[in-house]
Amino acid sequence: MAKTIIVSNRLPVRVEGNAQDGLKFVPSEGGLATGLGSVYQEGENIWIGWTGYHPKSIQEEYEILDYLKKENMRPVSLTSEDVKLYYEGFSNTILWPNFHYFPQYIEYKDEYWESYQEVNKKFCSELLKYISEEDTIWVHDYQLLLLPQMIRDIFPKISIGFFNHIPFPSYEMFRLLPWRKQLLNGLLGADLIGFHTYDDMRHFLSSVSRLAARSVKEQHVQNGERIVLVDSFPMGIDYQKYATSAASPDTIAQEVLFRTSLQGKRVILSIDRLDYSKGIPQRLKAFELFLEKYPEYLNIISLVLLVVPSRGNVEKYQELKQEIDLLVGRINGRYAMMDWTPIHYFYRSLPLTKLSALYRIAEVGLVTPMRDGMNLVCKEFIASKLDKSGVLILSEMAGSAKELSDAILINPNDVNQIIEAIHQALTMPREEQIQRNEIMQKSLQRYNVHHWVKVFMNNLKKIKKEQKALEIRQLDESGVQLLLDDYEASQQRLIFLDYDGTLKTFYKEPNDAFPDEELLVMLEKLASDSRNHVVIISGRGRDPLEEWLGHLAISMICEHGVWLRAKGKDWKKLRDVDDHWKKEIYPVLDSYVSRTPGSFIETKDYSLVWHFRRVELGLGELRSRELTSHLKYMARDRHLQVLEGDMVVEIKNFEVNKGVAARKWIKKYPADFHLAIGDDWTDEDTFGAMPPDSFTIKVGVQNSRARFNVDSVDDVRALLEKIVK
Ligand code: UDP
Repeated sequence: MAKTIIVSNRLPVRVEGNAQDGLKFVPSEGGLATGLGSVYQEGENIWIGWTGYHPKSIQEEYEILDYLKKENMRPVSLTSEDVKLYYEGFSNTILWPNFHYFPQYIEYKDEYWESYQEVNKKFCSELLKYISEEDTIWVHDYQLLLLPQMIRDIFPKISIGFFNHIPFPSYEMFRLLPWRKQLLNGLLGADLIGFHTYDDMRHFLSSVSRLAARSVKEQHVQNGERIVLVDSFPMGIDYQKYATSAASPDTIAQEVLFRTSLQGKRVILSIDRLDYSKGIPQRLKAFELFLEKYPEYLNIISLVLLVVPSRGNVEKYQELKQEIDLLVGRINGRYAMMDWTPIHYFYRSLPLTKLSALYRIAEVGLVTPMRDGMNLVCKEFIASKLDKSGVLILSEMAGSAKELSDAILINPNDVNQIIEAIHQALTMPREEQIQRNEIMQKSLQRYNVHHWVKVFMNNLKKIKKEQKALEIRQLDESGVQLLLDDYEASQQRLIFLDYDGTLKTFYKEPNDAFPDEELLVMLEKLASDSRNHVVIISGRGRDPLEEWLGHLAISMICEHGVWLRAKGKDWKKLRDVDDHWKKEIYPVLDSYVSRTPGSFIETKDYSLVWHFRRVELGLGELRSRELTSHLKYMARDRHLQVLEGDMVVEIKNFEVNKGVAARKWIKKYPADFHLAIGDDWTDEDTFGAMPPDSFTIKVGVQNSRARFNVDSVDDVRALLEKIVK
């Protein structure tokens, strides 16, 4: 039976052990574990990952395995060396700082990279013990970027989702990594790649198109024969859990204890893992300056700073800890009174009851990361506000800021803005607090972690379905044989060949595409068989085709079917076509040329083409989208059609297309064998005009009306060689 397997660096349980008490299993209370509970705890489904513990004996290993099996989990064993090099090294000293825009903290070390590859392989080997092709695999986070392609290499059809829980940096940052291409290729093994925000997704797609040489269309990446969907799925919290916990008698009892100790002081709350991405020192400095600027809050307001220990073996984290200790000491030293502590600092992890009590007490949630993939603390703060009072101050650099726009949003680098935000929060009227929190609570309730899991899984199913519908029918040996047999058995053959991208690879300039000797010889041979009627059917203007191929015994259809020339005869127009519109449209194209160095206009008799092949990558695409929508607007009342080709935008008369011309040809020259080969979507009209049982071949791995696909111009040439032999 098909099952779902979750894979992440850590399992949703922590194993702890010491000589006296033996092993202890501590289930994770994190949102991810809760959200995915509905997945991995069902039937045969499992979760694979590391337990965080190195077993000291075979017995311990068995004991762990036994426990995990009952919980639908399977362990990956990592050595201390793996943890040092793959986890602390590559994941947390290379990827983490890069993805969070701290390039100065990166330590580029090949041994980290070696280990990262090895450990990803380790995860893959562990997975192989359990998976089969019909399963669904959901890989989580930046520690396992290479895993999707490793699985794909073994199971080409399997369903793989990947979710990145941290930001994805802009191309300018990502390209600093020496292993950037391998990382992207690893990820592209997935069918669905999810990020928290639209910006992360945009950055990823930009890196893919610039570094991984894949074509990207909107949210789809063409990866060989497979399309990969990229989308944003902002992760929610288990809303009910926090709302329920906030209302529980234990929490309320805890709140009373806290309030008594605080002796009526008002509270600003900060909760973070120890991490430089969280902006803790910057926040402390802002709090100090707030007290300086608004001394009326001395002895009135306290900052409760909860810092959860994290990555203690990484040097930058040790330095950060020292910095925070010093800052807290300095600020408290400067301002504390006998009955007032400005900063209550806790360096530990607290259980849910205490967290909920803190969320309840705090008037202000101060969440100011320099960069954060999502940030759940701010969402939990809002969910815990049962009476809807309280103010959230949130960094716009956190993924959650995209959803929580009713918070006071601040730039964490703007210390004055933070100071004023604290003041605004402490003086905000209650009605306004309620109004803001109501909106945010509604949204967090709806987009909770269960919703997140459901939407991700549905999208994974959707893309698998789309892939199936688009399944490429590669022209394999049996297809070629079928074609050759029909070809041999026929007496009258009509062969339509597109030119650019089909017989000849694209070049930068329109006139660069001269036919080479090999092509001319092949066309000559093809045309020399009296049973063959070869028709070049192209979007090009008459002049180049006449100049390059006019001497051959072939027919030509050009400008998408405006001009026709039957072999041995003169050029004829398909019908009278109006070209007055060109005078009006040309200046529009020209204005784009003025703004876009490297672009140029090609003038054909009945169409105009704007080429951007030589324009700076990115700018050309941007301008072409702008131009296309501009032209489409102009085309509406003028009976014109806008075509977006490969690095071109073309505008032409609506009634002219290759299909109309091909149909005319087929009617006029009856045949018992039809072949049509083309590469772009103007050729789809030709394919559509072909009688049933024709051989239609699309060049490139994309969805098409054609019966078969081949990869490249070389494949077309190889096929024609076989035909003329
Ligand atoms: N948290 C906790 N115990 C604590 C402090 C925090 O369990 O003492 C939890 C908090 O409730 C939240 C998570 O740790 O769910 C932190 O998640 P967030 O996305 O804010 O930051 P991350 O640590 O993932 O960068």
